Amino acid sequence: MTELTKTLELKLIEPNAHKRRKLRETRETYQHALQDAFDQNCTTQTEANDVVVTYDLSGYAKNALKKYVPQLTTTYNAGDLHDDHPVRFTNEGLRLDHKPENAVEWYVKIPHHEDYHLWMPAQPNPEQREWLEAVNAGDAEMGESRLFEREGTWFLHVTATRDVEECSGVSAEERTPIGVDIGEASLVTVCHRDDHGSLTAPELWADEGKTVRQLRKTYFTAKRRLQTRGSERIAESFGDDVWNQIDDVFHRVTREVVEYAESVKNPVLVLEDLTYIRESMDYGEFMNRRLHGWGFAKLHAQIRYKAVEKGIPVDTVNPRNTSKECHACGEVGYRPRQATFTCPNDACWMDEYQADVNGAINIADRYLIGESHSREHTDGDDSAEDGGRLTAPQDTQADATRQETLGTDAS
Ligand SMILES: [Zn+2]
Repeated sequence: MTELTKTLELKLIEPNAHKRRKLRETRETYQHALQDAFDQNCTTQTEANDVVVTYDLSGYAKNALKKYVPQLTTTYNAGDLHDDHPVRFTNEGLRLDHKPENAVEWYVKIPHHEDYHLWMPAQPNPEQREWLEAVNAGDAEMGESRLFEREGTWFLHVTATRDVEECSGVSAEERTPIGVDIGEASLVTVCHRDDHGSLTAPELWADEGKTVRQLRKTYFTAKRRLQTRGSERIAESFGDDVWNQIDDVFHRVTREVVEYAESVKNPVLVLEDLTYIRESMDYGEFMNRRLHGWGFAKLHAQIRYKAVEKGIPVDTVNPRNTSKECHACGEVGYRPRQATFTCPNDACWMDEYQADVNGAINIADRYLIGESHSREHTDGDDSAEDGGRLTAPQDTQADATRQETLGTDAS
């Protein structure tokens, strides 16, 4: 077991004037308390406590100061203080809340005065999605956090830790790639080839795909009805409940995907590279696309952090045509039905195949022929036939237009 630590970066989204004032208030009080304790040369937690206790700050900030001031005076031997120290809070001071149904998905609770806090929308660093998923699921622990302002924008940096298993020293070529396909018909499909190159029984989470589609539909239908009646509050708590149920399904499926990988000798989980992913299915509605992208990013992030926990490496490949090419001959085929892939090549032994499994094998095979690290690959010329890019939920354009598309049925 190794402990991984990371600083999670969150940007607070345009706080209104009231909240901005509250943040500044917190910072000023904190700075005064810090300066005061520093000037009185507090070298122990007790000494620092006697000074900071009189300030109108939350207990989380006071406790952080009690730890920090003695470090400044004894360890760092600081001569004087610069005046833009971030406001520190001890762990548990901060709370994260996830509302995937909203344009802004993440919210943070920031301590203000003793019994008063602020809930604010925040934009996390998109590269750290897997960490947020881990924190949100209780699989990573939050440590100290720091609040600061840079050129008019407020940021929060949060320390997080989680335990991971070390990867075995097996080389990349010796690993057995497991293709992971994320779709709509089957929520996730995994498949790999055995030592002789034969396909093993794939695993499909088809019922879960159905469950998620139904939950989304329930959500949009009910939300529309409740909003028409003006019951915003009920709509919101109902929405939280439905999205929590979806998240529960995601967590169970991603755990089972990692269990599948654990049953394979020297596995590597192969995902499609999200930065290159294209819309491969026919979605008319913008909201559908956004939700689909959201599901993609969320499932990927959960698979990633759970795999690392078990010491299983994860790699990505270029997703170009993974759902369109025949895994046997490479010819571009078509889907007469959502769940069926048809190869048009007369010379190919394969005629019809389960579409999601075909996609999963293509993903696994791309790792074998060295097509991983697809970031180095340039885009092909299939953009015209492929349609628009499918982007992760940090797609700001999707967020911006959300208001207009809200209420669109996403079944
Ligand atoms: Zn074929």
